[in-house]
Amino acid sequence: MAESTNSKPILLEVKNLKKFFPIQKGFFKRVVGQVRAVDDVSFFINEGETLGLVGESGCGKTTTARCILRAVDPSAGEILFLKGSGERVDIATLSEEEMRLLRGEIQMIFQDPYASLNPRHNIFDIVGEPLFVIQQMTNRAERQARVAELLELVGLRPEYMQRFPHAFSGGQRQRIVIARALALNPRLIVADEPVSALDVSVQAQVLNLMLDLQRKLGLTYLFVAHDLSVVKHISDRVVVMYVGKIVEMSPTDELYYQPLHPYTEALMEAVPVADPRIRSAMTELEGDVPSPANPPSGCYFHPRCKYAIDICSKKSPELLEPRPNHFVSCHRAHELQLTGIGDP
Ligand code: SF4
Repeated sequence: MAESTNSKPILLEVKNLKKFFPIQKGFFKRVVGQVRAVDDVSFFINEGETLGLVGESGCGKTTTARCILRAVDPSAGEILFLKGSGERVDIATLSEEEMRLLRGEIQMIFQDPYASLNPRHNIFDIVGEPLFVIQQMTNRAERQARVAELLELVGLRPEYMQRFPHAFSGGQRQRIVIARALALNPRLIVADEPVSALDVSVQAQVLNLMLDLQRKLGLTYLFVAHDLSVVKHISDRVVVMYVGKIVEMSPTDELYYQPLHPYTEALMEAVPVADPRIRSAMTELEGDVPSPANPPSGCYFHPRCKYAIDICSKKSPELLEPRPNHFVSCHRAHELQLTGIGDP
């Protein structure tokens, strides 16, 4: 599966990643089961590419992102990262100290810009902190110059550095979060729902800024989102997850035009489309994501799938590649004509 889809090298390769959380019961905390939050997930991201990672809440996408950042330790699998030095390391096995040294190369942007900025620190302290702590840039004037440069890069005025987070709107706060993430010249940015907490009009501005920064700085993004509307314009390829597993993975245009998995088709519901014929062909996704502690038999999506047949509840489908670079796990992928919304 790990074959670069452009001429750029693979920056991040996740191989057979698993993250299970034990279910404990009773006084002695006996382990009685496992929550399979991420269950044998493999994908890669080329340098300079944006990979969208999509699924409803509880599908394992955030846990996958947290494993990549080693915010949680994976249960199994490899997370291979190509460092700026050219060395390839397995993030899954790095020590705390090795991970600290890698922090500059991999940064995270969180969903809630209100929660991720300390209200008692001014913008100079917030954006300059990684420069001081990790890069050991102790000279204040040097830090000020770099913070001013970073603020300009994200479209904010350098004189704002003396202000505190409460003086800014949601969109401006997310720009500040991005400026801080850029401080150490990262190569990979893991963005977990970076625009979900923002108004729709502001969302587009922040997405455009991220695209602009990618072009200028050659950044690579793993962009986590709960629906397909946000990732459409920013991603080169999209991975769709359901109950800890990848159900579809494809170049973006093809996924939106010709989805192969019924879950992907159902997620299209959230994407605004002008054509009423397409809108009326869509069906609403009913029911909830099953618990990864106790998933359904066979294909995990079968209780919610309008195309389910007998085999679906009995046998779990494999992830196959029916078209080049387009992977899907559905028993009926070869015969279903699903509704997409993109242009051919
Ligand atoms: Fe639906 Fe069956 Fe395909 Fe699962 S395998 S998505 S239940 S048609």
